Amino acid sequence: SDRAMLQPPPVRARQRPAEAERGLDILVAEDNEVNQMVFTQILGETGYRFEIVGNGRTALDAFGKLNPRMILMDVSMPEMNGLEATGAIRKLEQDMGTHVPIVGVTAHALKGDRERCLEAGMDDYLPKPISPRALLEKLERWLGSDIETRRSAG
Ligand code: MN
Repeated sequence: SDRAMLQPPPVRARQRPAEAERGLDILVAEDNEVNQMVFTQILGETGYRFEIVGNGRTALDAFGKLNPRMILMDVSMPEMNGLEATGAIRKLEQDMGTHVPIVGVTAHALKGDRERCLEAGMDDYLPKPISPRALLEKLERWLGSDIETRRSAG
């Protein structure tokens, strides 16, 4: 009837907050194709949503667009290295009042490399070659409290 047409449209069921807010879990910045495959293989089995970019500049862009929950940041990359990209992200975050966990990934066997990462504003450090177990421990450390919630949410 005409009366029915005057009714407001039915309110759509809202997305569950967990789904609505679910964005990117892990941003990986890594220029080496072999390591990209290693990350894809290991992360692919976790159920986390991840994206891989090939240099620090695209990592900076992706940080702004995708708002990842954590970043795995290779230190040595073309265009903009991981230390520079981390510095740029931390600068942006000063205005936003946020802090994304950044784990530096580096093949440099130099002592003090971990310190270089932390000085650049990274929170943690993962040495190469990437061990699946070490990587999963980092995910547990920086995203872990969320795992049970995600499972029960289905
Ligand atoms: Mn590299």
